[in-house]
Amino acid sequence: MSSTASDLKKILGKGKVIDDPAIVKLYSKEPSGMEGEGAIAVVFPESVEDVRRIIRYAYETSTPVYPQGSSTSLAGSAVPFERGIVISMERMKKIHEVNLVDGVAIVDPGIRIDDLNVELARYGYMFPVDPASSSVATVGGAINSGAGGMRGAKYGTMRDWVLGLELVLADEDATLLRVGCKTVKCRQGYDLTRLIVGSEGTLGIVTKATLRITPLPEQVVYILAFYDKLEDLAQTVVDLKASRITPLIAEFMEARTVELAKKLANVEIDAEGHMLLVGVDVYREAAERMLRLLEETARKNNAKKVYKAWSTEEAEEKGLFAIRRNLFTSQVYYTRQRLGKENVHVLIEDIVVPPSRLVEAVKRLDEITRKYGFTLILGGHIGDGNLHPAVGYDPEDEEEKKRVHDWYMEVMKLALELGGSMSAEHGIGVMKKEGLRMEAEALGSPKMLDLMRGIKQVFDPKGILNPGKVV
Ligand SMILES: Cc1cc2nc3c(=O)[nH]c(=O)nc-3n(C[C@H](O)[C@H](O)[C@H](O)COP(=O)(O)OP(=O)(O)OC[C@H]3O[C@@H](n4cnc5c(N)ncnc54)[C@H](O)[C@@H]3O)c2cc1C
Repeated sequence: MSSTASDLKKILGKGKVIDDPAIVKLYSKEPSGMEGEGAIAVVFPESVEDVRRIIRYAYETSTPVYPQGSSTSLAGSAVPFERGIVISMERMKKIHEVNLVDGVAIVDPGIRIDDLNVELARYGYMFPVDPASSSVATVGGAINSGAGGMRGAKYGTMRDWVLGLELVLADEDATLLRVGCKTVKCRQGYDLTRLIVGSEGTLGIVTKATLRITPLPEQVVYILAFYDKLEDLAQTVVDLKASRITPLIAEFMEARTVELAKKLANVEIDAEGHMLLVGVDVYREAAERMLRLLEETARKNNAKKVYKAWSTEEAEEKGLFAIRRNLFTSQVYYTRQRLGKENVHVLIEDIVVPPSRLVEAVKRLDEITRKYGFTLILGGHIGDGNLHPAVGYDPEDEEEKKRVHDWYMEVMKLALELGGSMSAEHGIGVMKKEGLRMEAEALGSPKMLDLMRGIKQVFDPKGILNPGKVV
């Protein structure tokens, strides 16, 4: 046993430290396929005091720590690349308070978003930020990665829903810091709460969060429509906006991706062409009128097929979400077939462009991907301009890995050229550090990175918090 692991066992007591290499390995990976080899042990704090003990020890011994929720980041954000301790927050998962009058929930960082929503649904409420990984993604991980989701066009991202935070700082005393308020209106000088949101575990360990919550919609109506021309699909969304409708979700998939995904979806839907899925939350009395308007708008813009559902349950039953859910699995499936092997990796990009540039972005992405010899899988959140182009590759083929890397860089450049950003919701981690540098250059603000390094230095003078990430 390493001395670090035995020290931690003494400090934390029984059952909170694992240094079995097989388990440590499990906590050293993320779904993109990235894996680190630096973890000495995984620790499982059960209280704020446990977290403070770990940080005091890490500070004293200058040992790096890697905070982790469920490690579903796709940017390498929670992976222990250097020698250090993984801090899994999975045991800190209490809901401390749900206050409907104040519209807040106060929770531990390790609670999963779906579990929080099961509890909130008992009161007719929800936490609206819904990364597709919400069945496992933790609140602390979502805060630190600045996550968004399908409902982004209507509800924004984590930064719009975090009111206050408690965190442990990486200093000699492992100081417990509380920032923000329980109210939406709150002025505390510089906004440290928002600074922590999206900081990817590099500025402090979040131990509690005060979140805004909102009532569940009374009803959500849906259409799933298919188009020959992407311009017509995009125009449908523009027309809906012009009719003063803000969809709860507005997702799209490009035609070839639909073709691949429908093979796996196993649904009775005549899916051909570019796909648009729109859901709008309504009061019951308005449901019929809204559904009619959605269908008419789609047909006016030359939709070939339009499927409808009066509720989320009906949409599930009819399989309206099934093709969208198979977006990334179709890339895995396709790549396995192409390479004739099981072990394949899929690189999922996460750029954002102004929605008005979306059609251009899709065309250019197709050209770029062909140039590098890959098949594009493309879907995204058309309501907010967030695109997830993805390609599959052989992780053991150095030439292919190099091509994927070059593709990735060019996709980020495209986002910047179209006035967007190289990262919409997955964060910087290790994968997008070069992208962040490019974006700072494109904005004419290389100074931005100096400021970020300065902030990191103030919060984490010894550089022990999730080293090597973001800046
Ligand atoms: C299939 C799939 C779909 C996805 N869909 C989406 C999507 O729609 N939208 C989206 O935004 N993302 C998506 N993601 C990315 C990811 O799932 C989300 O960002 C998620 O919120 C991360 O939660 P987590 O608990 O896994 O965090 P982790 O990956 O464990 O951590 C994320 C970051 O937060 C830090 N961290 C974790 N907990 C703490 C803490 N308590 N204190 C300080 N730092 C901490 C970590 O060090 C890391 O830097 C998807 C991922 C997958 C695999």
